[in-house]
Amino acid sequence: MRGKVSSKYTETNINLRRVCIGFFYKQPLTSKGELGQRGTKTSTSFKKHDSNNNLLTSDLKAPLGVWGRSNFMRKNSLVSISDYNKEEILAILDSAADFEANPNRKTLDGKIIATLFFEPSTRTRLSFETAVIRLGGSIIGFSDAATSSSSKGETLNDTIHMVSCYADAIVMRHPLEGAARYAAEVSPVPIINAGDGANQHPSQTLLDLYSILKTQGTLENLTICLVGDLKYGRTVHSLIMAMSHFKPTFKFIAPNELKMPDEYKLFCNKNNIPFTEVNELNESFNDADILYMTRVQKERFQDLMEYERVKNVYTLKNEMLANSKSNLRILHPLPRVTEIDPDVDGNEKAYYFQQAQNGLYVRQAILSKVLKPITNKGE
Ligand code: ASP
Ligand code: ASP
Repeated sequence: MRGKVSSKYTETNINLRRVCIGFFYKQPLTSKGELGQRGTKTSTSFKKHDSNNNLLTSDLKAPLGVWGRSNFMRKNSLVSISDYNKEEILAILDSAADFEANPNRKTLDGKIIATLFFEPSTRTRLSFETAVIRLGGSIIGFSDAATSSSSKGETLNDTIHMVSCYADAIVMRHPLEGAARYAAEVSPVPIINAGDGANQHPSQTLLDLYSILKTQGTLENLTICLVGDLKYGRTVHSLIMAMSHFKPTFKFIAPNELKMPDEYKLFCNKNNIPFTEVNELNESFNDADILYMTRVQKERFQDLMEYERVKNVYTLKNEMLANSKSNLRILHPLPRVTEIDPDVDGNEKAYYFQQAQNGLYVRQAILSKVLKPITNKGE
């Protein structure tokens, strides 16, 4: 999939995108993480569209081989899962297995990593920070945009430049789609995207792949059910792109309001990935190898009444697993709300807590890869 540029992505469009994105992110963020007066407010985040109503900042829509990779990978940033090809993905999973066997190797000795979380996180931030500490590095940063200078009106551009004076790499979460890509463009040090709006969450995807590989023994030819908020859930968006290397079959299980966006279905069609869409959870996963549950992303709804209507749409209960395959494993990026009943936790098919633990090893592998060439050059 890398290197293909659809005819829609002419050089002119690409340049237009770059200019627009640069312009948007040079606007200060308010304390709510909103961008001045620019953009189209679609929820708590902004989506930016060009005159053809194309989303400007989606990594899926960014032409992968052009500005999706070349510029960013020079600095080793990990912005989108499409920044890594199949070999690189498999190398990360290999390296994660080495870290699982020996998590205390000091590959980041003397390095300083900044974790900039403009949007709340527990797991992702703690697991990145634990990974850095286990690798012998140190952490600076913030876990709440309200305590950073962005609440005083500092632009993302300035924050990134300032932090890159201190840190060897930046792990960043941001409510706006495309913010990580913009940061990678302006930053002299590598950026690791820890989630940008509803767009991408590549480190989560790599740990999802590691969990799938560990539990299934392969990544190839699996049937994967993605359940819940397929509209706003960034983890399912990244996962589809990553799994496209491994001949998956998908079942998208969501209410109409939270259906998988057309752009991802188009992506599946273009990559010959079969998928079906259903509304009902019960029994629909009996042929699945992986049941990937997601939380309804309250923070991305513009209309909270709509959230109230769909928030409890699915609850997986232990009894519903009776006819599922013996190798089925249930994944969830966490945190869960009501979508998995606690009575599932004791079932051997529940794998979400081990999945979170796998995140540590995978993030150790990512940090080591991102910083390795810089270390070698003695920079
Ligand atoms: N909101 C999630 C959490 O607190 C995000 C994450 O950590 O990835 O766990
Ligand atoms: N932790 C995941 C994320 O940050 C999933 C979630 O928050 O529901 O996207």
